[in-house]
Amino acid sequence: MTNFLEQIERLVGVKNVLVGAGDRGERPWNTHQPFLGKALVRPENTQQVSDLLKLCNAQGQSVVPFGGLTNLVRACVTTPSDIALSFENMKAIEDVNATELTMTVEAGATLQELQQAAESAGLFFPVDIGSKDSCEAGGIVSTNAGGTKVIRYGMTREAVLGLEAVLADGTIVSSMNRYIKNNSGFDLKHLFIGSEGVLGVITKVVFKLDVKPLSHNVALLAVDSYSQVLEVLAESRRHLGSMLCGFEVMWDSFYCKATQPEGRHKSPFDRQHAIYIIIEAMGTQVESDTTQFLSLLEILMENELVVDGVMANSDRERDEIWAIRGEVEWLVRDAQNFDVSLRSGDVETYIRDIETAIHTDLPSALVATFGHLGDNNLHIAVLAGGDGDSDRKAVEAHIYNSLLPYQGAISAEHGIGLEKKPFLAITRSASEIALMRALKQTVDPNNILNPGKVI
Ligand SMILES: Cc1cc2nc3c(=O)[nH]c(=O)nc-3n(C[C@H](O)[C@H](O)[C@H](O)COP(=O)(O)OP(=O)(O)OC[C@H]3O[C@@H](n4cnc5c(N)ncnc54)[C@H](O)[C@@H]3O)c2cc1C
Repeated sequence: MTNFLEQIERLVGVKNVLVGAGDRGERPWNTHQPFLGKALVRPENTQQVSDLLKLCNAQGQSVVPFGGLTNLVRACVTTPSDIALSFENMKAIEDVNATELTMTVEAGATLQELQQAAESAGLFFPVDIGSKDSCEAGGIVSTNAGGTKVIRYGMTREAVLGLEAVLADGTIVSSMNRYIKNNSGFDLKHLFIGSEGVLGVITKVVFKLDVKPLSHNVALLAVDSYSQVLEVLAESRRHLGSMLCGFEVMWDSFYCKATQPEGRHKSPFDRQHAIYIIIEAMGTQVESDTTQFLSLLEILMENELVVDGVMANSDRERDEIWAIRGEVEWLVRDAQNFDVSLRSGDVETYIRDIETAIHTDLPSALVATFGHLGDNNLHIAVLAGGDGDSDRKAVEAHIYNSLLPYQGAISAEHGIGLEKKPFLAITRSASEIALMRALKQTVDPNNILNPGKVI
């Protein structure tokens, strides 16, 4: 082993091979993926990644690509025989082109750095998720991250114009396309987007930027029933058109936890409601956009589609509203987290199904529901009380098996990792899974890249 690590040291430099890297697998978001690998390797450029993978492939050495380690599906779990590949030395924002609306970056730049670089050029990078301080370009692309602005801008896939990836055998595939249109054969970037590091290692990305919105309106609304949620969504779409960029829903089970008396956030409402909605709109005409947003709120009130509501009148008030939705530390730390997709009309009965099933086994479990409902994406956090493995398995089975009648998806945006692998067949057909395996076998025949994850 020492000999092998010495060979790696010769490729990337002694200082870039951390042996016994201890707790380096744990980062701010504490997603329970302690580092167990034999070394953490920090290449400085694509050629080093290529040389490293070539060596690992020849020796059958497994490699786990690390981004910011914020995934919630145990996609970066290491074993003592793995090495991990970190992009902390590859963080450059190489180019922001305000004419073309593109940004070219190395894999290790954090999402926050991407947003700031776009902002400094007077532009906008629309991918936005709660872990932005830590998650990295390579990670958000490898997981096809979603977030709070998908209803308008799409998932990360929509923001990727091109990328550079390294295959298991060290081949560098440069697909650094900079155009929206390019139908010249297969669009290979899609092989790597959302494939969680099992098909290749992403080293660079060309992102598409957007114009910076100038108006930004946010409201927090309260409703009595799920049917009102659907009506508010339909009315918001009709009234705001492409300005609508966020539609988040929090059931009282989640909202209460975030605004409980001893909690960090105060509810602006003087009583509890069944469900709460955050509507966010962004546009380029400050005055008329705000007038249009206000008129939507008036329509919702006049038609009794909402029972209460507040609109943010300052940046601080906007942040306060979003902070309630962003209060997820407790669930990342303590709860079992799920992230499913369903047709919006099925969400209410699905929630009833899982609550009934979970409470039959675990009467005191807290089942908190919330999510990006404008994208059909429901999050569920379950605090079951004890931490017994059998309780966890029972909860998992209820959440996923209950999707079957609705043909729901087991992962809306978090991916599969190790966590959801046993349930993949609930969402994907046998032929889809067979094709996934065939692709993996073709590009990584020795199964060295993030082995055991996804399929
Ligand atoms: C508080 C919080 C809020 C979150 N909110 C959202 C949300 O709204 N929407 C959402 O989609 N997700 C969300 N997540 C989940 C997570 O942040 C995303 O999945 C994120 O995209 C992961 O990025 P990362 O850099 O941390 O990747 P990691 O967790 O490090 O890795 C994720 C996967 O990508 C692979 N990978 C990483 N870098 C590379 C690379 N360069 N090349 C090839 N493979 C690579 C890894 O091997 C792994 O399989 C949230 C997580 C937290 C903790």
